[in-house]
Amino acid sequence: KKTAIVSGAASGIGAAVCEQLRHAGLRVIGIDLRNSDICADLATASGRAYAVEAALCLSEKRIDTLVCCAGLGPQAEPVAQIAAVNYFGVTALLDGLFEALQAGCRASAVVVSSSSATLQAWEGNPLRQAYLDGDEAAVQAMLANLPPDLAPQAGFIAYASSKNAVACAVRQRAASWGRAGVRLNAVAPGAVQTPLLEAGLADARYGEGIRNFIAPLSTRARAEPADIAALIGFVASDSAPFIHGSVVFADGGIDAAMRPHHF
Ligand code: NAD
Repeated sequence: KKTAIVSGAASGIGAAVCEQLRHAGLRVIGIDLRNSDICADLATASGRAYAVEAALCLSEKRIDTLVCCAGLGPQAEPVAQIAAVNYFGVTALLDGLFEALQAGCRASAVVVSSSSATLQAWEGNPLRQAYLDGDEAAVQAMLANLPPDLAPQAGFIAYASSKNAVACAVRQRAASWGRAGVRLNAVAPGAVQTPLLEAGLADARYGEGIRNFIAPLSTRARAEPADIAALIGFVASDSAPFIHGSVVFADGGIDAAMRPHHF
């Protein structure tokens, strides 16, 4: 039986991914803060190290599918946690489990980015070098010392920059992972009906912006977690053998509407 590791397994998209993969016949090992096979805090270096060690142990160092869903929304406090989980919590799993993926059968990994990644594009992302260097202290210092005009948007900047950087982290690894025969992709959802979205909608600073972030698609203003899980399941599966290094949007057309000449 194939083995999958899924972070953020206890809720929302991650929980739907677990269901999707189990339905497809995989053995699924979940990682989350609580209510999971591996309970670990991906915001901390020690939590990440424990999660990697436990995943290697439970999988016997052979992983066929890795899906990194764990994440915090722009409303999460403290803001430092957002970059810690959304970027450093993901790259720690990718790099820590890469060898075990190489031992898997036609293995692949999928990272959940966000359509908001394009709102803090790499070229204009002031945190990019710190992310690229894996310098978590520098990212945290920059978020804590934003200029006064940007400080009220710190949560949004942390969220969008981390989602942009994590998509770039996927693309940066495409050559080396490709040579090793392990596919790696990002999925970038728009608004998905989950507790993370609900918390954002309830937030005084970001609620209105999120409410107005409406997909142009008339048949579906927001996705359900199962919609995104179906895409992740496909991208991760043997049915997508040539999809590698891609950032696949599932956003009801928001990105196309905002950036019709970029893709
Ligand atoms: P969710 O809150 O339902 O699930 C996120 C899960 O991550 C939770 O179970 C939570 O406990 C876990 N998590 C958070 N911090 C953690 C930590 N420090 N250590 C371990 N686990 C931790 O949210 P969701 O909407 O399903 O989000 C899943 C992913 O999708 C996130 O990366 C999110 O940024 C991304 N995303 C969501 C939306 C949306 O509209 N819901 C849109 C784009 C991208």
